Amino acid sequence: MKILIADIPEEGLIIDLEEHLTPDDGSVVAPVVSHLELMKTGTEVMVSGRVQTEVIRECSRCLRSFRRSVNIPVNVVYHPAEEVAGEGQPARHALNIDEMDMGFYRDGEIDITELLREQIVLAGEMKPLCDEACKGICPHCGTDLNTESKHCTCSDDRVDPRLEVLKKYFEKRKE
Ligand SMILES: [Zn+2]
Ligand SMILES: [Zn+2]
Repeated sequence: MKILIADIPEEGLIIDLEEHLTPDDGSVVAPVVSHLELMKTGTEVMVSGRVQTEVIRECSRCLRSFRRSVNIPVNVVYHPAEEVAGEGQPARHALNIDEMDMGFYRDGEIDITELLREQIVLAGEMKPLCDEACKGICPHCGTDLNTESKHCTCSDDRVDPRLEVLKKYFEKRKE
């Protein structure tokens, strides 16, 4: 969906959208529901609101895929790309601008679909976890310790990191 900036009235524009996205990585698995407010200030357009959907992530410990719902705040100030090309970086003069992302629009229109796509991609965590308590995969035999821990026979080598300190302590005393 594209919004013509000329169509945004002085008092601002509120849009409620439900869109089906297919980002390149294919991780969005539910309709993308968004509530956005667009305000014009000179040639800048502030877009704020929220976007909700469900994504598939891969657990960084056990490598299993899992579904997660996301609810992301949106705060972006759009500047005209043409103007920026002529004058260098736009000045960060507005209040609270440091908390806003910066975007650029071309030909007098903002691509809302592209905005939502970017926000969802940016919101991806560096190390997603299927569960805070995920036990992960045994580094020796590759067994998923959440479901098949009895197949792992490396348990003798595994020391709980909290006990590691004690183990070292006793080893020292033996010397
Ligand atoms: Zn996991
Ligand atoms: Zn093992």
